[in-house]
Amino acid sequence: MTGTVRELLDGGQPTWSFEFFPPRDEMGEVQLWTALRELERLQPSFVSVTYGAGGSTREGTVAATERIAAETTMLPLAHLTAVDHSVAELRHVVSRLAAAGVRNLLALRGDPPGADPQAAWTAHPQGLRYAAELVELIKGIGDFSVGVAAFPEQHPRSPDLESDTDMFVAKCRAGADFAITQMFFRVEDYLRLRDRVAARGCDVPIIAGVMPVTNARQIARIVQLSGQAFPDELAERFAALDGDTPEQKRAMRALGVEVATQMCQTLLAEGVPGIHFITMNRSTATREVYASLAGVGVDTGAPAAAVGV
Ligand code: FAD
Repeated sequence: MTGTVRELLDGGQPTWSFEFFPPRDEMGEVQLWTALRELERLQPSFVSVTYGAGGSTREGTVAATERIAAETTMLPLAHLTAVDHSVAELRHVVSRLAAAGVRNLLALRGDPPGADPQAAWTAHPQGLRYAAELVELIKGIGDFSVGVAAFPEQHPRSPDLESDTDMFVAKCRAGADFAITQMFFRVEDYLRLRDRVAARGCDVPIIAGVMPVTNARQIARIVQLSGQAFPDELAERFAALDGDTPEQKRAMRALGVEVATQMCQTLLAEGVPGIHFITMNRSTATREVYASLAGVGVDTGAPAAAVGV
């Protein structure tokens, strides 16, 4: 598929997109491609591949994105981070992606390598310090559609919401065409971010990041990695269903799908420009949310035959 994310957003219909991470081994490769092929049938607007902190998964990001561009009908968006890269290396990655026909990039500063996203962040001596600089670099290299990250509850390192919004708007003014949010679980947080950004005269479309929760044990990890809160009331509903029996697992998945479906419905009613599902390289939960949305009359643009689960 050709085109850019920005052109799709300009089309006026909400975009529907899926996020994957690069595989770490052969089994992961099989899982990723099974999920990609299953979700390809839903005809998403675009699919994105995250950029890992370690060297090997970075090669995996470029390889997976190239393969999506060459072998599938889907439009790829490659995440790229400034972590541990010189400007020359960043240019090289962008050129390689461009050679494969990839024109959509998500420009990120990235988290420090290692398990703790709150660890000290150190710029590469010949590298960049903030995502805004990466946006400028990519825009200077060629005609790319560039997205940036947004944080409904502010970035965990930002001192307060107002300065976080100022920095976000500065990143947009550096040339970003669109933004995708961190996953969030309270629609009001997204709406308040949108209002703060609009109040600063910035109209960059902000796509909402949604992750269907299918496992109560994911929740602590979600909070640690994203720095975004998980509402207590929701956490209690998930905790009440926690367990390993097939019935408990089914009930948990049904609740995750219900919560994600309601969020999508509310966001669409509020005029969100797009919804970006974090798939964790699995297709079932996303397909179930699609089916559930179809059941309440939401048109995701997916062929009816593909939505049945
Ligand atoms: P920035 O926009 O640079 O902001 C980082 C912090 O610095 C913020 O607190 C900001 O307010 C502040 N700041 C910005 N500019 C300035 C300035 N000029 N002066 C002072 N302060 C400033 N991580 C990965 O490693 N790989 C991925 O693939 C990945 N994908 C992501 C996808 C999405 C949709 C999102 C929301 C996040 C993703 N992340 C990924 C995580 C992201 O890299 C981290 O959250 C990172 O800590 C922040 O990245 P950023 O691009 O928002 O940074």
